[in-house]
Order: sequence, then C-alpha cells, then structure tokens
Amino acid sequence: MNISEWLAHAASQLAASGCPDPRIDARWMAEDTLGMSRTELKFESDRAVPPEALERLTAMLARRCAGEPVQYILGSADFMGLKFEVSPGVLIPRQDTETLVEAALIALQGAGERPDVLDLCTGSGCIGLSLASLAPHARVTLSDASREALEIAKRNMHALGVKADLRHGDLFAAVGRARFDLIVSNPPYIPRGDLAELQKEVQYEPRMALDGGPDGLDFYRRIAEEAGAHLNPGGSIYLEVGIGQAPAVLELLKAHLTCLEAGTIRDLNGIERVVFAKV
Ligand code: GLN
Repeated sequence: MNISEWLAHAASQLAASGCPDPRIDARWMAEDTLGMSRTELKFESDRAVPPEALERLTAMLARRCAGEPVQYILGSADFMGLKFEVSPGVLIPRQDTETLVEAALIALQGAGERPDVLDLCTGSGCIGLSLASLAPHARVTLSDASREALEIAKRNMHALGVKADLRHGDLFAAVGRARFDLIVSNPPYIPRGDLAELQKEVQYEPRMALDGGPDGLDFYRRIAEEAGAHLNPGGSIYLEVGIGQAPAVLELLKAHLTCLEAGTIRDLNGIERVVFAKV
C-alpha cells in the first residue's frame, strides 16, 4: 500500500466512525509515523508504506476509530506554533485558548520589564509556557492541583527550553501570598450535568480539568474572590470562559475586584471566550 492509498483508506474508516476531521487526523498519524512533513507526504505520496509503519498506523487508526483523541494517540498537540506533550492526565490544548494567550501577550507588553505571571490550572502548561516562550521577559509560575499534570508541564518546560516555577496546590493555595502582574487561567468550566453528553473524544480527557461544578462557574467564583490578594497594583487577570459564561464571569470579577477596566474578548468564531479585568 502506498501513502496516498493509506491516507484514503484511513480517512474513509475515520469518516465512517464519526470522526469530525478524518483527513486531518489521517495525515497527522501518517506524518508522525513516517517522520515526514505535510509537504513531503504530498509530493512522495506514491512511496510504499514500510511494513512496520503500516502495523503502527493500523493500531493508531483502530484507536482513533474507537474515539480516542488523535493528540493522545500521538502524545503531542500543537498550540501557539509550539509542540506540547499530552497524555490523558491533561486536557488537550484547544485553539480557542490561543485567544487567551494572544490577549495575555498584549497585556504583557505594557506590564513592565520583568512581569510576574501566574497560570492557574496549567495542565500541560500550554498557556504559561507559551507565554514564557513568546514573552521571555516574563517570570512565569505554573500551578495545578494534579501532580501528574505538573510532571507533564515540567517535561514541556524542558522540551521548550524555557524556565518556569512549578507549584502544586488547589488554586491560589499553590502560591502562598505571592502577588503577580498577570494571572491567566483556563479553569474547568463545563457544567457537571453536561459532562456525560460531551463528544466521545472529550470523555478521554481528565474530568478534573473539565468539571466546573453544578453551573460550571465554581472555579470562577473562587478565583474572583481570591484574585485581589494576588494581583499587584496595575495587574490584570485574563480568564478563558465557556460559551455563554462571559457575562456571569465579568460580573464576578467586577463584584470582587476594584477594576480600572474590565471586558470580554471574542475568539475566531465570534464567541466571547476571554474575560479580563485590570486592577
Ligand atoms: N474547552 C474545553 C471543552 O470545550 C473545556 C475546557 C475547560 O473546562 N476549561 O471541552
């Protein structure tokens, strides 16, 4: 079987299994297994797939057809143009979250020479480590309540060649009395009752990274209550939110912080995805 034949075969199997992006997932598996770029795959598509590679690809395809996310199968995800190791111990970085990172990068431009940044509920570290990589003047702290997540974040930190302080603990308990110029977070925000109805790929992800309590807002309430004690004067907080949550989260921040400015930012789909406040 040659490369283009395998790609066509994989895409049709994936489509039949209900995979939302059959051609993309087939291509990612082939790129990874064959060690070829997207362009190489295209221009050398008549090359035969070696038997060992075919065996590996067959196993990957079966896992993907059963619903396992392609990023867990490959062990990595792309985010902000960087590669992050992922495993079922951490949420897979979403493109939606790049909206938060981009907003934070702009905020960091006016945040002094050596701004202190905290990424709460860091998971794979994708938000905080992207900031450390793209805004090297920032001093970044990553925190998570999951030790497994912090291990993955640590490996991602080393792989990206950046520095960050890693802290274990429940939200702000991880950082004692420390204050920051910028706090960012993509906390768990799915209403508990909706968890069972999420697409099958999401069922492979850690519940701890998704479950936002009965109305999805538990973490925002706690973050809003405690953030004031952890922000330097002039500091700001940027939170990712789920669809429809922005007004409630904005109200929470306004209720608990003395805001110089507060608002929301839309993602590429026009959804209010980030809520921010400056103190
Ligand atoms: N964006 C994720 C999803 O829709 C949820 C992430 C979160 O709870 N922070 O599945």
